[in-house]
Amino acid sequence: MKNLTTICFLSILIIISGCIFINHSEMTSTSGNTSWYYPDWIMNSPYAPSFKVLDTESSLGPYAEKTKIITLEDLVKMHGHLCDGLVTAACGLSFGLEELYPDGIIDRTDTCCITNNSPCFGDVAAYLTGGRIRFGTQKIDPNMGNEFIVYRISTQQAIKVSLKDGVFPEALAWLEKKVKSGNFTIEQMRECQRLGWEFAKNIINRPLEKSFVVKKIRGFSWEPDSYIHEGSRGDVINKNVMQKTFHK
Ligand SMILES: [Zn+2]
Repeated sequence: MKNLTTICFLSILIIISGCIFINHSEMTSTSGNTSWYYPDWIMNSPYAPSFKVLDTESSLGPYAEKTKIITLEDLVKMHGHLCDGLVTAACGLSFGLEELYPDGIIDRTDTCCITNNSPCFGDVAAYLTGGRIRFGTQKIDPNMGNEFIVYRISTQQAIKVSLKDGVFPEALAWLEKKVKSGNFTIEQMRECQRLGWEFAKNIINRPLEKSFVVKKIRGFSWEPDSYIHEGSRGDVINKNVMQKTFHK
């Protein structure tokens, strides 16, 4: 009887452990329906950008020897949702960063960014450039529209990327205003979501130069905004110490 009780107890333990393992596996799996937040139309879009970035190896440097690839899916995970703002920022910044980094490698220890106060624009700009408000390398200008300024510290080059006039749908602009006002129906909220995704889909299904224009800003000087808890970024101070060629 004692043996039977022990066997039953062990069996229950094994079943519970199995359930925990399965649930954990489902949560951490990167395949199948766990990518529900990242629809097929993004994956199959011919002009969806990806980004090759260079960082440091650890908190006090030096430069890493290899680059990393950031995809739109990475940006969705960081930002929390897929939206037209995320896609607009990623595409616009991709177009502009090509100008600052002709070799295709974005140095996230050497780049500053300015956007309006949209959570989508600011998040994507910070992730892709490495600019951060607390280090004085990211700034917010509420007066900016659908545009992005990117600055390369070492070369003192600055560019501005803007969404071309007439590209942003008027119906979407109207609905966004309506939903933000708080006076809207669920149908209007869903329609706003649908139009936002439709707009994003259009942008990544045609060459980026059809949607964006990029201009160099001559004589630009970077002045960090003041921030009460501004800190110093340890990983970039001695980033050049190894002075060796990294492998792309
Ligand atoms: Zn967003």
